[in-house]
Amino acid sequence: TSIEDWTRSDAYHNSFLVPHDDVLDAVVRNNHAKGLPDIAVSTAQGKYLNLLAQSLGAKRILEVGTLGGYSTIWLARALPGDGNIITLEISEKHAKVARENLENAGFSKKVEVMVGSASESLAKIQADPPFDLIFIDADKPSNIIYFREAKRLVKKGGVIIVDNVVRYGHVADPEYSDDNIEGVRKLLQALKDDKEVEATTIGTVGEKGYDGFLYALKK
Ligand code: SAM
Repeated sequence: TSIEDWTRSDAYHNSFLVPHDDVLDAVVRNNHAKGLPDIAVSTAQGKYLNLLAQSLGAKRILEVGTLGGYSTIWLARALPGDGNIITLEISEKHAKVARENLENAGFSKKVEVMVGSASESLAKIQADPPFDLIFIDADKPSNIIYFREAKRLVKKGGVIIVDNVVRYGHVADPEYSDDNIEGVRKLLQALKDDKEVEATTIGTVGEKGYDGFLYALKK
């Protein structure tokens, strides 16, 4: 099955489940126009994050890796009136585009974009109050650092999602190695003996190829 087949599969399902969306279409167009890489979550994954946030009744969300704010907007749409998001981005350029997109989507007051290395930004954030949901989607070699900080910042019963943990099955294939794959392997190794969370990997095949989310529940 080719990526075209999976793109058609996503489009088919979305045609029943996700209404046409001018705001998010404009985000995708603006990201493209400003030269951002095409590495945002898919529509179906964005809606999944939105539904998860709604299911958790999330009021306080942390995102590591903003890009142009596409996933941020899906998450922000799940927030109640007094909810908010902090999203972390190292690139000034990406953060600028994200702020434009968030403004156009009506979320500039609910979302704080913190520019800088996520490790440094995370060290400045307090669990006061703790976060209901944390989405990790930045540089994969630092997954383990972000996950450790996420455990400190998430509430008991809160959820940490890490994107891109399957990578076409290459994470499980000893023939493959690169910094991203090793970043995922190190995280999985650490989770083996981690008593603070319960976790599972859920595959996410679609227009973004064969990949997966790690879903971790803080005990
Ligand atoms: N979550 C976004 C979405 O779905 O719309 C996509 C995020 S993109 C996959 C990863 C982002 O992480 C990029 O914008 C990149 O600049 C940022 N990034 C990379 N290294 C980082 C670091 N050390 N600290 C913070 N952000 C970083």
